[in-house]
Amino acid sequence: MLTDTHTHLYSEAFSEDRDSMMQRAFNAGVGRFFIPAIDSGYTKAMYELEREYPDQVFLMMGLHPTSVKENYLDELAHVERQFEKRKFFAVGEIGIDLYWDVSTLEIQRIAFKRQIQLAKKYNLPIVIHCRDAFDEIFEVLETERDEKLFGIFHCFTGTYEQAQRAIGFQMKLGIGGVVTFKNGMIDQFLRQIPLEHIVLETDAPYLSPAPFRGKRNESSYLALVCQKIAEIYTISEKEVAKITTENSKAIFKI
Ligand SMILES: [Zn+2]
Repeated sequence: MLTDTHTHLYSEAFSEDRDSMMQRAFNAGVGRFFIPAIDSGYTKAMYELEREYPDQVFLMMGLHPTSVKENYLDELAHVERQFEKRKFFAVGEIGIDLYWDVSTLEIQRIAFKRQIQLAKKYNLPIVIHCRDAFDEIFEVLETERDEKLFGIFHCFTGTYEQAQRAIGFQMKLGIGGVVTFKNGMIDQFLRQIPLEHIVLETDAPYLSPAPFRGKRNESSYLALVCQKIAEIYTISEKEVAKITTENSKAIFKI
């Protein structure tokens, strides 16, 4: 069984064909789906998705860095209220994104730090979104480093050194479609990272793997990511599925 550790199945990109998209994922061997939050605008859709697929879908809660705007304190209050009400499997996705907006760096930092502390309060992993912001992310992680800090560096696209550093913070590397890209680069050093540090993800509907690059992504394409990882590590796809699913269980504790 494959585990998609990062997929936005509630996205409006799937509103026309969500059930058949899910069926294709099941048929491709994907049995578990971990669902990152973005902001309060999607909370209702996430709960509905969970109601439809209670045995396969596992929700996270958090405020995405690109949704950290003037109203971020209200958004953080919304996140905290959800945690008071019910169980989630991670705080995510959270982090820093300097690709879309540099002007919010300061409040992105505050939101990231506050949500790391929330994860520690509930003994949960964090799921990190990092875009053009490795130094800034590592700086925050350094101030929060302790035995309670752990999680996933989602859509990891850094260097070998950055991978080592992330692992040093008790982070798994979330590997998705980028590993299948010709200029994706991580395929060149991934083999030096033991598979116990890797989990698989699609980040659907974004970042489709080859040969669907540029098109809508969906969780069934996780099989293509698995195939590529099997090629890189020269082991069977079955083995990749087994190890990475075990890794996801260790992180999400389910
Ligand atoms: Zn995402």
